[in-house]
Amino acid sequence: MPITRRQLLLASACSLCAPTILASPARPKVVIIGGGWGGLSAARQLAKACDVLLIERNAEFISLPLSNRWLAGLDDGRRLRQNYQKAADQLGYRFHQGEVSGIDMARRQVSSSTGNFLYDWLIVAAGISESDHELVEGDRAAAAHLRQHFPSGYAAGKEALSLKEKLAKFSGGEFLLNLPLAPYRCPPAPYERAVMIAQHIKSRGLKARLTIVEPNAPWAGYQRVFSEQFRDQVNYLPNTRLRKIDPYRRVATLDIDDIHFDDAILMPPQQAAEICRNNGLNGSNSGWAAVNPKNFAFLGDERVFVIGDSVGAVSALFGHYPKTGELASRMGSIVAQEIIGRITDKPTTPELPEGTCFAYLSMEPPQVVRIESRYRIRGDGEIMQNISQKRENNPQGEEDAWLNTWHGALFGAATKR
Ligand SMILES: Cc1cc2nc3c(=O)[nH]c(=O)nc-3n(C[C@H](O)[C@H](O)[C@H](O)COP(=O)(O)OP(=O)(O)OC[C@H]3O[C@@H](n4cnc5c(N)ncnc54)[C@H](O)[C@@H]3O)c2cc1C
Repeated sequence: MPITRRQLLLASACSLCAPTILASPARPKVVIIGGGWGGLSAARQLAKACDVLLIERNAEFISLPLSNRWLAGLDDGRRLRQNYQKAADQLGYRFHQGEVSGIDMARRQVSSSTGNFLYDWLIVAAGISESDHELVEGDRAAAAHLRQHFPSGYAAGKEALSLKEKLAKFSGGEFLLNLPLAPYRCPPAPYERAVMIAQHIKSRGLKARLTIVEPNAPWAGYQRVFSEQFRDQVNYLPNTRLRKIDPYRRVATLDIDDIHFDDAILMPPQQAAEICRNNGLNGSNSGWAAVNPKNFAFLGDERVFVIGDSVGAVSALFGHYPKTGELASRMGSIVAQEIIGRITDKPTTPELPEGTCFAYLSMEPPQVVRIESRYRIRGDGEIMQNISQKRENNPQGEEDAWLNTWHGALFGAATKR
């Protein structure tokens, strides 16, 4: 088909931005892999203009934000669960429960456990994966044992349930909690869990100790909490790497010494979701997806976008966006606007995302820190980050209001309160 004058003009006007793909006559097909915070947000916003299919391996959505409170027994967890099918029916997209195993970019097709699906646009919003094998030096049986007995509970699902049982049963001895090297999902969440465990030990007067192994620099606010409120319960080791785990003998090898543990929550290093790694979406020498930092288009194919926690470094100034639900969700909106702009020939300038995270500094009495991340573009085009933290000594349900607002944005009227 000959190129029209309009197409030529459009191509030259857009030579500095992402290439424009001209509108196809039918409603374009968008496939979204992953029904987490990023995927749900993109699905809702694209459903108005496109034929959207959301593929997710789990039957229901379970929120990780505010889940630590449920782990601590302070929430019955009912409103953390949402129904995918109901949301899809009300918001005008299709939901398919299945596991996506492959992406064929040449054919524009994804293959899943229950069928193959063609797309015009693909959004990969599949979250994180954890490389257990690194802690056990590639021993598969040991990795499986580690995952079964000492899960991180960092993805929604069965692991979180076993974590809850583990914490309820813990009645004494050495408890080990390690943090992965940054970047990892929801930076304050492991500290919040540490506070919960320390409080469990202290309030029951258990003969027990929590050792926290932290390969990163210490988080000042939590370091103070550990030393002031939990001096007898917590042994906090910042700037210390967990090198190796023997999950059978329950021995952890740190930088300098070995420690024995009776129980543990072990957090292996994190990377982009497996579907990214297995389909060439990650950058070279990086465990994270290689994307355009402004519109999240995959650098190898302009019809493929990666959003949420899988996204790699976006700025030479601060590296990765914090891996949080709100940021993932805002990335979903940015990509939806980008796709709509391209299919309607009305390119938009992408907004920058932002995020808010709540984490408990103390469960009893409740004390919460609110962490806000904001962004702007510097003169030379680099993205700049400003993170502020505010302590609420007398929280009045701000974190509940935040979750309700976001569940409303993701699930519409299908939201449970
Ligand atoms: C304890 C805890 C507390 C948190 N608190 C906060 C908070 O206060 N505020 C905040 O903003 N964030 C918080 N977060 C972080 C937040 O949960 C994540 O950043 C967010 O879930 C990332 O969204 P995502 O869409 O990238 O990934 P996810 O939400 O993990 O969604 C990815 C989805 O993809 C699916 N999937 C993956 N691969 C496939 C495949 N091959 N086929 C089909 N489906 C697939 C997964 O099942 C999953 O449902 C917290 C996290 C934790 C662990």
